[in-house]
Amino acid sequence: MHCPFCRHPDSRVIDSRTSDDGLSIRRRRQCPQCSGRFTTIETASLSVIKRSGVIEPFSREKVASGVRKACQGRPVTDADLAVLAQTVEESVRQTGASQLDTNEIGLAILGPLRELDEVAYLRFASVYQAFDSLEDFESAIAQLREDHPRDRRGSDAEASVDQS
Ligand SMILES: [Zn+2]
Repeated sequence: MHCPFCRHPDSRVIDSRTSDDGLSIRRRRQCPQCSGRFTTIETASLSVIKRSGVIEPFSREKVASGVRKACQGRPVTDADLAVLAQTVEESVRQTGASQLDTNEIGLAILGPLRELDEVAYLRFASVYQAFDSLEDFESAIAQLREDHPRDRRGSDAEASVDQS
């Protein structure tokens, strides 16, 4: 790649390190012509096949904007969405796939979104998994309750009152 300062077509690598998650390599480079130093980050390419068949590069911003609609009126900040999009990117990269379809991205969003906000999760899941009846919502909510031991605290308290 060209030197960003003088456009010289070559550069020398002076340092190279793998990121903590092992998903990218940062290279510190120096231009032999102007001695300018710059960093390049190398990651495996990751593309998304849309339902229309169009292939485009994976974008964290697109993940965040897709989820943002489900978060309207919820206490979810842009920073939360940025973290969520990063989590989604890391999890899909961990699979080692270089191409994903929108369905796989949607699946990867569900887990971290559920951690972030359960109402937004239900909204997103209802669109993404095409809920078409109240029963679909009921079973999704039942699933959330089942995985939530703290929601049963109320009935535990009642039980201990009965014992005394
Ligand atoms: Zn240069």
